[in-house]
Order: sequence, then C-alpha cells, then structure tokens
Amino acid sequence: MSCATALSARSVVAEILDPEMPMVTLDDLGIIRDVEEIAADGSVIVTITPTYSGCPAMGTIRDDITTALRRNGFGSVQIRTSLHPAWSTDWITDDGRRKLADAGYSPPGPTPRRDAGPIPLTLTARPRIVACPQCGSEDTRVVSEFGATLCKAQYRCLECDEPFDHVKEI
Ligand SMILES: [Zn+2]
Repeated sequence: MSCATALSARSVVAEILDPEMPMVTLDDLGIIRDVEEIAADGSVIVTITPTYSGCPAMGTIRDDITTALRRNGFGSVQIRTSLHPAWSTDWITDDGRRKLADAGYSPPGPTPRRDAGPIPLTLTARPRIVACPQCGSEDTRVVSEFGATLCKAQYRCLECDEPFDHVKEI
C-alpha cells in the first residue's frame, strides 16, 4: 500500500449495498468481477455481471457504483458488463448467504446442474425444498413464484405459519 489513507476503488465498490436486498453488498452477491484503477487519470473501470436478467435494479447499481466512487474522489467511472459466464446464485458468498438468512430470507440452494444440450422448457416452477428461515422446518409451501421482486418467491411455513421470501436459484 503506497497510500494508506485513501480507500482503494475496490474497497469502495465492495461496500455498496444491493438496492433490492440491502442486507447484502454487491460483493456478497458476487456480481463485481473486476475493479481497475487507472493511475494516470484517477479513473476507474468496474466490470459487473448482471444478476437476474431484466432486473430493474441494474440501472440503480450502475448509478450507485458511479456515485460512491466519485464521492471518494475517483475521476471518471466506466462500467462494463460481462455476460459470460452468466451470473448464478452459486456466486453468492457464504457471508452473503448468512446475511440473507439473518434478515429472514431463505437463501438460494445450489443451482440445478445444466448439462450440455437443450435445456428443457418447463412452464411450472421446479419443485425445491425450502427450509423456513424462522424455525428451520422444511414443511413449507410456495405462495407465489413472484414475491416482492422477480428475484424472489414467496413462501409460507406450515409449521410456524410465518411467510418468508426465498431467493430463487438461477
Ligand atoms: Zn417456520
């Protein structure tokens, strides 16, 4: 570290919270692929992988990254998106999963393995076993495949009767 007082662009970006699930950072979600500081002019290039396609939060995320870096004295900010490999809920860190669970969300399980070849199109949601974040019971029922946002499904626990959101596997 040549400059101990200034925050690195990487650490500024790492602190930014997800606009839809503000209990986790963008870093917890695993969407920050690269943060490059250009020493010559103080500009920063941030590479992100969008989460759920069409998630309206992506515009907010870009703005939040730009604002946070500017506020910390960085110059121009360029945001690049990297679509390959596609983001998956498997990229959410253990820390992120713990924070989601602490906030009463049921974190996503492992994504179903996709083998090479055609992906079967199903109109019904894939059945999944979701444990209640309150009491741990797996006796839960899906109420709606779309909760507060497209990224979440709404569940109710049949054991303790608590409703909760499950972050969907993709
Ligand atoms: Zn329960």
